[in-house]
Amino acid sequence: MPEFVTIPALLNLHHTDRALREAREGLENVTRDQRSAEANLAKLDAELAQMEHDLREVQAKIAAEELETSVKVEHIEKMRTALNETKTNKEYSAILVQISAEKALVAEMETKTEGLMAKSQGIKEAMTALTAKRASATETLEQLRQSSAEKVSQFNQRITELQNMRVEAAEKVPAEALKQYERIAQRLPGEAMAPVEYEEGDLENIACGGCFMGLNREDINLIRGRDEIRRCRSCGRILYFAQVTGTGEKSTAK
Ligand SMILES: [Zn+2]
Repeated sequence: MPEFVTIPALLNLHHTDRALREAREGLENVTRDQRSAEANLAKLDAELAQMEHDLREVQAKIAAEELETSVKVEHIEKMRTALNETKTNKEYSAILVQISAEKALVAEMETKTEGLMAKSQGIKEAMTALTAKRASATETLEQLRQSSAEKVSQFNQRITELQNMRVEAAEKVPAEALKQYERIAQRLPGEAMAPVEYEEGDLENIACGGCFMGLNREDINLIRGRDEIRRCRSCGRILYFAQVTGTGEKSTAK
């Protein structure tokens, strides 16, 4: 029997990678709610900013309407004064007609201003409601941050440990095998290796434990006989023999 170095060293690296993937997923789960709360808060902030913008726009329109109205009202006053200085009936009734037309315009403008004021009031009320919602969303986020802080730090610590372990594990793998492993690991994080699946006493039914594609006897003999890597022709994973359970169940050790 040749001495096997490559596969045991690779398996050690593979187990570290699996643990790393688990730790990263754990961290992801812990922070998921937090990230969704952050997104919710950002959405509320954007809505509030839009409302502030709308409010400023309406207020500017109100100011413009009020100015125009006061100019018209002043003009009407002037015409009333002019009315007393008219010399003919024709002149008098012409000014009266104009006064009445301008008064109608002023009434129209006042209605428009009232509408704008109602709109401004509506925006202000919506902003008050949204501000309350924002306060409660901020509180929720703060609670999530506090409750997950410890778990987050534990996962980060574990990830750092595993990353150091990974460097050590990778150093023990022969260079060429490591190159192949890293290529597969990039595509299949934590899944670069797969056990050969078979039932004891039934060596006709052998499959890759990663993609379940059937393997032939030749593959098996090569994996067993040489200290080199053998990859599944279908999924590309590096194959290895897990310990036979001896119970006739499928070998699932990974
Ligand atoms: Zn496969």
